[in-house]
Amino acid sequence: METDSAEPADSPDSTGKRPWLAALLSVLYPGLGHVYLRLWGRALLWFLSIVTATALLVPPEVYPSTLSVSAAMSAAQALPLTISITILAMTLLNVLDAYLMAKRSGEEGAEDEATCPNCGREVDEDLEFCQWCTAERR
Ligand SMILES: [Zn+2]
Repeated sequence: METDSAEPADSPDSTGKRPWLAALLSVLYPGLGHVYLRLWGRALLWFLSIVTATALLVPPEVYPSTLSVSAAMSAAQALPLTISITILAMTLLNVLDAYLMAKRSGEEGAEDEATCPNCGREVDEDLEFCQWCTAERR
């Protein structure tokens, strides 16, 4: 079977951001995929919302006392289904968001470098103003 032509177009040469890696990091830790993409605000937002939701929804007695997969699994089974689904859905959205942001930054980076129209320095894609000279971006 020829698989070369069917490879997904996430080659690292456009901006160096791999969507699958951003997704994987998000699975490992909430917000980590966005940290990798240098989307600090989004990373913090995802981290806080997932940690807060977990802290609010998961009763302390259910919390796994050890950080192992089996402990996490039995803790998840002890939870009401709605709570498990809510946390799972948030995690999946976080992963999806990281993946899409990585894909988007790769596509944008190919044709349009995010630079400030005023000072010409590289600007964080998430900001609406230049973090160097505070000029507004368009
Ligand atoms: Zn500037």
